[in-house]
Amino acid sequence: MKKTFSTLTILFLAFISFAQQPKTKVIFVIADGISADALEKIETPHLDELAAIGGYSRAYVGGKKGGYSETPTISAVGYNSLLTGTWVNKHNVFGNGIKDPNYNYWTIFRFAKAQKPELKTAIYSTWLDNRTKLIGEGLEQTNHVKVDIAYDGYELDTVQFPHDKERLFIHHIDELVIEKAVESIKKDAPDLSWVYLEYTDDIGHKFGDSEQFDNAIRIVDNQIGKLKEAMDYRAAKFQENWEIYITTDHGRDEKTGKHHGGQSDRERSTWIVTNAQKLNSYFEKETPGIVDIMPAMMRSLKLNPGKDQAYEIDGVSITGPLSVAGADATYEEGKIDLRWKSFQKNEQLKIYVSTTNNFTKGNKDTYELMKTVRSGDGKVILDVSKMPSEIYKIVLEGKHNVTNTWIKL
Ligand SMILES: [Zn+2]
Repeated sequence: MKKTFSTLTILFLAFISFAQQPKTKVIFVIADGISADALEKIETPHLDELAAIGGYSRAYVGGKKGGYSETPTISAVGYNSLLTGTWVNKHNVFGNGIKDPNYNYWTIFRFAKAQKPELKTAIYSTWLDNRTKLIGEGLEQTNHVKVDIAYDGYELDTVQFPHDKERLFIHHIDELVIEKAVESIKKDAPDLSWVYLEYTDDIGHKFGDSEQFDNAIRIVDNQIGKLKEAMDYRAAKFQENWEIYITTDHGRDEKTGKHHGGQSDRERSTWIVTNAQKLNSYFEKETPGIVDIMPAMMRSLKLNPGKDQAYEIDGVSITGPLSVAGADATYEEGKIDLRWKSFQKNEQLKIYVSTTNNFTKGNKDTYELMKTVRSGDGKVILDVSKMPSEIYKIVLEGKHNVTNTWIKL
């Protein structure tokens, strides 16, 4: 009896400690168009403070250069890679016109509402299209996904924000967006928030690499400081765990810094600052991509993509345990040479191949288990000579995560 009692006590205490685990709230910030070299040469005390808690890494955008997933280093294209964890060959947003997004690749906002409708979502943004077109709020194709809290669209208000040549009005809108975000974080404490700031890119286009651009980065750092204060306020008062990921959507051209869109190293070169704990060796030692932030946020919010969806997500989490990343494949005469980076040497990896791409139209693909290999091998040859196709979607499945790479002939 005594034993039973103590077991019950332990169970009760376990329950209490579980119940008291602070809830994780996630914010991601896109500060537009700041290449890694530009950021690194400016003093940014607020970003540094967050990086000291979590970490800083150089990162990249642009998909696989010269490959099937090469992705223009253009703003909305980059935002959608972050939102969906996929490159442009999947999400289909090729420019800022956002003509025909493929909503079959869900944004994190859609995952949140589909799996945990109780999660409160928010957007604080200097560009309305982020909510109405990329997230696709209220559209039939997104199953009418809702963003609970929105402070955006100010750029359409030319009375309060007359459009000036110096683009100062964008700075003023960024400031208002931050003010609203700070108020709302303190009051509403959304579980998932997106803060979007535009001024840096506008100044980059106007002045290129310049004192003005450097100054715009300092302004962003100050704005991040305000967000941090709001997070700290909630954390102290309500015992919540606030996680923030700050990044940019593309770098700038090598010559003047006025342009972007191409595949030069500097245009592809970005960065991630986060206060997240449990950053893994993929974040610490490799160069993560913009697509790797969404899987980390999914983990923090305890959202799990369905199997078919997980097979399509191009990013891998930068937090927590990881099995495999960096898959790459080449094809020659019926054989696929597949390579990857292993993070758990002796784990088994299952390699699947599909020769269809029905997912892109919202339908199912059939995957065939080709091989089970030791992860530490880092490479394998797959014989697909009896599966002639113009596309091979290859999935590597480990204990902690899956990743994929394609062959398009
Ligand atoms: Zn941009």
